[in-house]
Amino acid sequence: MDDTQRLRYSRHLLLNEFGEEAQERLLGSHALVIGAGGLGSAALLYLAASGFGRITVADGDSVDLTNLQRQVIHRTDSIGGPKARSAASAMAALNPDVHVEALEERLSPERVARLARTADVVLDCSDNFATRHAINRACVAARRPLVSGAGIRFDGQVAVFDLRRDEAPCYHCLFAEDAQAQEERCATMGIFAPLVGIIGTFQALEAIKLVAGIGESLAGRLLLFDALASRWHEVRLARDAHCRVCGTARAAAA
Ligand SMILES: [Zn+2]
Repeated sequence: MDDTQRLRYSRHLLLNEFGEEAQERLLGSHALVIGAGGLGSAALLYLAASGFGRITVADGDSVDLTNLQRQVIHRTDSIGGPKARSAASAMAALNPDVHVEALEERLSPERVARLARTADVVLDCSDNFATRHAINRACVAARRPLVSGAGIRFDGQVAVFDLRRDEAPCYHCLFAEDAQAQEERCATMGIFAPLVGIIGTFQALEAIKLVAGIGESLAGRLLLFDALASRWHEVRLARDAHCRVCGTARAAAA
């Protein structure tokens, strides 16, 4: 770290639990963030500000006027442009230490799998089950920690699947893949603006802790947030021994 970095990250360095080593680890780490919507906006800004060395952001959508009520990384003059590019330029302006890669595309499962292998941590900030399951499969195969977030109406949830560990449950253990599953797409549902900020920020918090190696991870627990009542609810997660995704991958590796 040079003198400017020591100043920029001084409030991290002042934390006994954080310090220089954790900051160096952060500066040497790569986060893959899928989705630059409401969750991604908050997560990306905090990951960039905190000093993640490399951030890859993938989003195939363009900025729309209806996004700006909650997707705070984008600006009114970015309407019509790719979200990934808009997010990347906001992060670059915030912190020039961060090497940002913008992928202006909806990632195929194969592409997610390849990208996950290059990342130290993966943040699922997407808005549909097909992508969520593709990201989970990629993280199970590459054994990368997955920080998953979701928010709709006034309800949010956040969970960490630390797939580096043998006993860790995966997203599929929790949410089975059902082709008939009713998708609650943000495209048609209401979303309370600060809700996605809270959940996305929580995802950044867990990603930073995982990479910096500090504190106790949320791994193995699901947090549910009711924004109308301002209440958090915690659910313990267990691995499904018969899970089609992590069960098979682990049996093959053994
Ligand atoms: Zn599983």
